[in-house]
Amino acid sequence: MPRPIEALIHTDALAHNLARVRLAAPDARVWAVVKANAYGHGIERAFEGLRGADGFALLDLAEAERLRRLDWRGPILLLEGVFEPRDLELCSRLQLWHVVHNEAQIDWLAAHKTQQPHRVFLKMNSGMNRLGFTPEAYRSAWARLDALPQVDEISLMTHFSDADGERGVAHQMAVFEAATRDLPGERSLSNSAAILRERLPSDWVRAGIVSYGSAADFPAHHASHWALRPAMTLRSRLIATQQLEPGDTVGYGSRYTATAPQRIGIVACGYADGYPRHAGTGTPVLVDGVRTTTVGRVSMDMLAVDLSPVPHAGLGSEATLWGRGPGDAVLSIDEVAQAAGTIGYELMCALAPRVPVHSAG
Ligand SMILES: *Cc1c(COP(=O)(O)O)cnc(C)c1O
Repeated sequence: MPRPIEALIHTDALAHNLARVRLAAPDARVWAVVKANAYGHGIERAFEGLRGADGFALLDLAEAERLRRLDWRGPILLLEGVFEPRDLELCSRLQLWHVVHNEAQIDWLAAHKTQQPHRVFLKMNSGMNRLGFTPEAYRSAWARLDALPQVDEISLMTHFSDADGERGVAHQMAVFEAATRDLPGERSLSNSAAILRERLPSDWVRAGIVSYGSAADFPAHHASHWALRPAMTLRSRLIATQQLEPGDTVGYGSRYTATAPQRIGIVACGYADGYPRHAGTGTPVLVDGVRTTTVGRVSMDMLAVDLSPVPHAGLGSEATLWGRGPGDAVLSIDEVAQAAGTIGYELMCALAPRVPVHSAG
């Protein structure tokens, strides 16, 4: 028997979450963001659940090729644009739309030979200071692109730094609107948090983390508040139990000491599976669908859980590290991430290659 750990990808949840995005942004077309191997879910599996999207956004050219191999004929957008001139040949061949965020990318386009003009998304740096033209340089970049025979339609785009937090999007919206007021073209503004929290005039929204069932603005809101369903379950089983007496310790560094008689279970899951080592004692976990917590340090291949709330649990009992448990039980990846001082995005993306992945309804 293989080691009992596995990840399940719920294609029905992906489709459900996409429907939630459509409800929140009824007038927009939806880019399903599937970068980083669909946030760790696998492009091919994610595609099964997200094929109802209007397009797919990512940044790795090899991932774009994988999508075309799945016979996706609709739009694909390269969120960082091309990295070198010859990438434009692949864009022409596979009809990839691409972001243009610097002058070099315009130079490369101007020198590119193509039968088919390219659709581009011109990115503005409206305050995040990662990618894009400054508001002052934006108009001349637009005019340069507009004059190129290699360019077809130009869409306008920016990205928010604080859509999930207190600062919000107003300051960047003001910059973007002032600089684009009289420019034609479709707009693409919102990421997940903006889709859920704002009502912005966006022709194309870019739905990443919401599609996978994580609350973009946790802990302000939980996934259940937005009626999102987890698209990934990480689960395993108990491979041992221990009876502790007061004073007994658990795991490396003896980070946990029992203060009373206590039963614990040992789960076949550790940081080499992608479970965060920084999740200390008290991180939520489900055993047989009952909520309990971890105790002690996470080790490479195992972690320990308190069995006090689940006295019937024993060898072979199911442990849900995040996602869907037995029955209706759900453990949000956001809660586990918070306990480890990180965010759901990072845990999804960090699912380790040694964990077998299966599609589930
Ligand atoms: C990753 C990314 C997104 C999606 O962000 P979420 O917070 O996951 O919705 C949107 N736009 C750009 C430019 C991105 O890089």
